[in-house]
This record gives sequence, C-alpha cells and structure tokens, in this order.
Amino acid sequence: MGRGAVMPQVDVIVLGAGPAGSAAAAVAARAGLSVALVDKASFPRDKLCGGGVTERSRSYFKDAFGHDIQFDDILSTQEVEFWHAGQRLSHMQAQAPIHLAMRLSFDDQMFRHAVSLGGLDYSGHRVTDINGTSIELAGGTSLEAKVLIGADGVNSQVARHLFGAAFDHDQIGFALEVEAPKEDDSAALRIDFNAADWGYGWRFPKQDSVTIGVGGLTSHNPDMKARMRSYTDLLNLKSIPKLKGHFLPFGHFKTQPGRGATLLAGDAAGLVDPITGEGIAYAIKSGHLAAEAAIEALKANTPDRAFAIYLRKLKPIHRNLRIARTLRKLVFSGRFKDAFFQKMAQSGRLRHEYLNVLAGKQEYPALLLKSGLSLPRFVLRGLRRRS
Ligand SMILES: Cc1cc2nc3c(=O)[nH]c(=O)nc-3n(C[C@H](O)[C@H](O)[C@H](O)COP(=O)(O)OP(=O)(O)OC[C@H]3O[C@@H](n4cnc5c(N)ncnc54)[C@H](O)[C@@H]3O)c2cc1C
Repeated sequence: MGRGAVMPQVDVIVLGAGPAGSAAAAVAARAGLSVALVDKASFPRDKLCGGGVTERSRSYFKDAFGHDIQFDDILSTQEVEFWHAGQRLSHMQAQAPIHLAMRLSFDDQMFRHAVSLGGLDYSGHRVTDINGTSIELAGGTSLEAKVLIGADGVNSQVARHLFGAAFDHDQIGFALEVEAPKEDDSAALRIDFNAADWGYGWRFPKQDSVTIGVGGLTSHNPDMKARMRSYTDLLNLKSIPKLKGHFLPFGHFKTQPGRGATLLAGDAAGLVDPITGEGIAYAIKSGHLAAEAAIEALKANTPDRAFAIYLRKLKPIHRNLRIARTLRKLVFSGRFKDAFFQKMAQSGRLRHEYLNVLAGKQEYPALLLKSGLSLPRFVLRGLRRRS
C-alpha cells in the first residue's frame, strides 16, 4: 500500500497477524467482509515460541482456514518425557501427535492464507495512533473500520488504548529460549517441571534444530537467566546461542477483553493455558470467534454489540482457563507440588491424563471429572505434608 494515501473504510481492521489475527482475518474475509490485516512486521517474521502445535491447535486451524496445516518443515512426535529435579519421571507415547513448528514459516502460512482469502495486506506498517475503531499508520495513512480486532500480542497497543496497560508484568509469565543445533536424533519432547518456579523448562526437537527454554511466573522467578543457565547445564548444552526473552500472559486472562466494537484476541486477551503455556490454539480459536462476533454484529448493523457477542462465545475458553488456574496451584504451589510430583512418578494414570491435556486430546473439565475421586485425597496429602 502506498504511504500517505487516505484509505477507504473497511468492515474490520485486524491489528496483528500472528495466529489470532490471521485466523480472524481469514474467517471475516471468507464471510465476505472487507478486512485490513495490519502488522508492524513484514512476513515472514519470527516469534519467540516453542512452536508446539497440538491436535487442538490443528483442529482450530482447520476450522479457521478451511484446510489442514502444511507440514513441510514441521516435525511430529508422540514421544514425551517428563522430568523433575534432573530425574526422568517417564518416557511416554502420547495418544496424539504433537507438531513442532518453526514460527517463522508457520505464521507465514497463516498470514498468506488470510491474504489469499481476501484480507488486505498491511504488513510492515507501524500503527501510530488508535482512535475508536480507526487507526493511523506511520506515514500518515489512516484506516477506518466498523470493528477493530486487537490481535497484537502480549504488549497489545489496542489493550493499552482501551485500558491504559496491556498487562501487569508482575502478574504474568516470562520465558527465555535458545534455538540450538541438533546434537542427537531424539524425537522426544522433554518437559522439566522444576526448571522454573510456577513454570517449567522444555526441550522441543525441530526438524533442523532444537528449541530449549525456561518460563514461569515473573514474580516467582526474579532471575530467569540463572534458571536458564542451570537448565542448559543440566542438558549439557555445549555452546549456548543468543538468549531471547518474551512475556507470556499465562494465568492472567482478561475477563473483559474488549469494549463496544473493539475486541481483543489471543495473547492480547491473555488466552494462554496457565499450566502448559499453550497459546497458539486459543489464539486461533479466539481470532475465529472475534471474527464471527464481528460478522454477526455487522449483519445486524450493530457494530457496538460485537463485544457482547464475542464475550458470550468466549465462555468455554474462559471456563477452561479458570479450571486450569485452580489446578495450577496443585501442580506448582509450594504446598502441593511435592505431592504432585510424587503422584506423577507413581501414577501412570495421572501422567496419561496430563499428557492428554498437553497433546490436545482432552480439556480440563474432562480431566477434573476423571480425577474427581482422587483429588480430595491428593489435596489432603499435600496439606498433611505441609503441616
Ligand atoms: C518462549 C515462549 C514459548 C512458547 N511456546 C509455545 C508453544 O510451544 N505452543 C503454544 O501453543 N504456545 C506457545 N507460546 C505462546 C504463543 O507463542 C502465543 O500464545 C501465541 O503466539 C499468541 O498468538 P497471537 O496471535 O495472539 O500473538 P503473536 O503471535 O504475538 O502475534 C502478534 C502479532 O502482532 C504484531 N504486533 C504487535 N504489536 C503491534 C502493533 N503495535 N502494530 C501492529 N502489529 C503489532 C506482531 O508483530 C505479531 O505479528 C510460547 C510463548 C513464549 C513466549
């Protein structure tokens, strides 16, 4: 798009073209709405991430984009290892594959789909101002829309515009990662529970490299770099490539992600699983739901109702995240975590159920139902240990 020109009004502006934004633009464009897909980056662009794409993400991807993921440079594995304090708790076969993608190409794939479906490509444009549902881009171009979807990540400019701040960084998580050369052929995805407090460490094999990271609640990990050093030592990583860090809003979703005709999706709305850190699935799903809300509101000629419609559609995701936030205390808090890891080491069933959530084969309400009988005993054991 040429700079300096005044743009016509579109139905929807989607700010941010990650999984949430590209899904929103694809769904809205397929329904015949005019959509501007704006991102400050030019694609392909990278995003710091383990790149774990579950079958949950895959099914949401198919719903939003109308076809399956292209698996060209994605490694799929069913082997998962759980570790604790340098000891392997188990090596398991997941019931479903977990796909390990490079975000550079995975996000490019989604962005291209959204544009091919009719989304107008405004990538490589920085937003200088937001006014209601209109935005101004660097260079003076202004774009007007009836609905604005903020899918611009954890530091969302749209959230800052609505609420003054995107998130309180002390309430959310932070993660460090390196992309290291592959030193063996292991296809196992490794999770180390105590590599960070209220979080974990991970080693995810990719097709040509391996992603190693630690992440956890910022308030419980004041020195994440030291955590990362200990973890790379534990993994015997010979040379350590450049560390990169990024906030992730796990455990702190916004109960009111938007207002009127402005909706927040994905990380901008805090939709990250508070136990596993999975965010791609909810990003795609919430982008899809935000677009559906925009479609319904515009059809009724009531763009200001878009947020009320969206909030209703988000209920199952919010319920899931609330349950996960409660269960998180049993997994990570000082009071219960020893009992949890003891149970993880002893109980194949618990490992199996946990793995099913991790791999996207089941959701937390089902997990809660299944573990309903053993949960009170587990809580009592944790309390007894403590006293
Ligand atoms: C270290 C780490 C590891 C992770 N590992 C996993 C994992 O293995 N599996 C998983 O499911 N999730 C993982 N996550 C979470 C996952 O990365 C996010 O939940 C997911 O990327 C959210 O997608 P999104 O579209 O909401 O935001 P993003 O992917 O962050 O995309 C936001 C887009 O908005 C653009 N943008 C930002 N600000 C502006 C602006 N002002 N103007 C225009 N454009 C803007 C950015 O350039 C970007 O393209 C991880 C996160 C971290 C930090």
